[in-house]
Amino acid sequence: MWLEKLPEPKPPERLVDDKGLRIDGRRLDQLRPIKLEVGLLDKADGSAYIEQGKNKILVGVYGPREAHPKHIAMPDRAVIRCRYHMAPFSVDERKSPAPSRREMELSKVIRESLEPVVLTDLYPRTTIDLFVEVLQSDGGSRCAGITAASLALADAGIPMRELVAACAVGKVQGKLALDLSDAEDKYGEADLPVAYVPNANLVTLLQMDGALTPDEFETGLNMAVEACKAIHTMQREALKKKYHDIKEVVEEKEEAEVVA
Ligand code: ADP
Repeated sequence: MWLEKLPEPKPPERLVDDKGLRIDGRRLDQLRPIKLEVGLLDKADGSAYIEQGKNKILVGVYGPREAHPKHIAMPDRAVIRCRYHMAPFSVDERKSPAPSRREMELSKVIRESLEPVVLTDLYPRTTIDLFVEVLQSDGGSRCAGITAASLALADAGIPMRELVAACAVGKVQGKLALDLSDAEDKYGEADLPVAYVPNANLVTLLQMDGALTPDEFETGLNMAVEACKAIHTMQREALKKKYHDIKEVVEEKEEAEVVA
């Protein structure tokens, strides 16, 4: 016998309270807590992990390596391919493992947001493969995926002009709010994901769902850009931490050899 489908969860009565606090206690201009880690997969050429609120995303990079099938190779540059994939257990109701239209769209926009910073012309006739695996999703997963993917590319030693950081801003109960969670995305009025390259002052992803006035759009975009700058600092720290940890291990080994 099939179990009956669970009823749809009720939307929260209010997304922002009288004190301007959101359902998870954040202020409107506050990011969710972010944890970044680099180089956790041995078999991939580069990898990174991000937790942003309840999002948990792992990215693996392979390449540059010889292009297969050969006909996709470009004579003057590397081809970047990206697969954004949500694990069946990443959302409340089991998601089909088959690629959805949404996953195809997100794979494309993540790739396009990273292409401008990668020096692909150094590696003609090769491919760089990016696998963005969403283990748990709670809104803003394309942005968190971009943040982690650019770290994984750097971890793979692929020459890049800069790291790309990404963050969404949206509108909930008539107010602009940074870094929307799933409930805010679902029941809010607008969602504006942005990817940004701080040193070049370059926006590499700009999408919009819902409606914003021109003033709201400008203020929202500035909020997202400032958040991307903060995330960019965290990305640099995560990269530095990996090499600091390696240095410590090497030094400990050298000390042990001297003692022996
Ligand atoms: P993003 O994750 O970049 O915000 P969307 O706006 O399309 O992308 O999705 C918002 C959120 O909706 C996702 O982060 C995820 O938590 C949820 N979601 C997406 N697809 C599904 C699905 N098939 N089943 C349940 N929840 C989903």
